Amino acid sequence: MLIDSHSHLHFPVYKDGIENVLARMNESNVCALTVGTNYENSLEAAAFSQQYGIPCSVGFHPSHARPTGVQGYFDPMEGARDEEFDAGKMRSLLAVNTAAGAKLVPRKDDDQRESKNSPLTSARALAVGECGLDYFRLPDDESFKKQFKQRQREVFEAQIELAREFHLPLIIHARPSKEDPDDAYRDIYEIMRRQRHNVGGVLHCYLGNIEYAQKFLDLGFYLSFSGIVTFKTADTVRAAAAYCPVDRMLTETDCPYLAPEPHRGRQNEPAYVAFVLRTLEALKGVTLEQDIERNFRTLFAIWG
Ligand SMILES: [Zn+2]
Repeated sequence: MLIDSHSHLHFPVYKDGIENVLARMNESNVCALTVGTNYENSLEAAAFSQQYGIPCSVGFHPSHARPTGVQGYFDPMEGARDEEFDAGKMRSLLAVNTAAGAKLVPRKDDDQRESKNSPLTSARALAVGECGLDYFRLPDDESFKKQFKQRQREVFEAQIELAREFHLPLIIHARPSKEDPDDAYRDIYEIMRRQRHNVGGVLHCYLGNIEYAQKFLDLGFYLSFSGIVTFKTADTVRAAAAYCPVDRMLTETDCPYLAPEPHRGRQNEPAYVAFVLRTLEALKGVTLEQDIERNFRTLFAIWG
């Protein structure tokens, strides 16, 4: 089974073509996790999860954690508007959508029928995230920049607490600024290092260098590689992937974004995770499919 550990299948951009996207995903034997990006969006992820029997996560993306005065972030493919982060609302959403033992199965016809008929209690939220720090889209104004970074940190720390409370792994988004390729990794590492009890998780779409790869591996994190690993210019990412031990590696598409070569520039989908996997296998010189499935099951505590 191929693993897309980070997709956004519930985003409105897929609305019209979702059955075809899911059919291609099943043909390619891919299991995907659909990731929420704020409260409203995570509600949609949970509803999608229950409708299609695909696991989801509940989280608040740092780009949506803007303080008053900072220009809002809107992406029509995502369809999510900025909202005030409310830990209580996130907690309620997690409470009704998590439980141990959600089953990992490719969506065959029988499962599909079963999940469509099953009540809304089917438990499918497997992680908290995506959450983290995004320094790529910050305002130019120094004072707003500072406030935004501070707010992102508070919202991230609140979600670390939720992950601890629900015993769920974190799906971490780290995007450095254009000026400093390490800044978001450095700050996230410092936040995680100070945690008294380690919360596990994954650095999704890892773009950092080997030094930070080692630091996060030392804290017990997994590193997930996206279609970027197939891009010609992504030597740093390939170096980190070559360095990452096989038992800590995950694959993802981050679809609808970041379609891998040879589909670069088009709308991405879980079936394309095969190109990410093949690139990683070529780098490592070994087959990885079974290892990555096992890593996915281990991290998200999936059995059955
Ligand atoms: Zn994402």
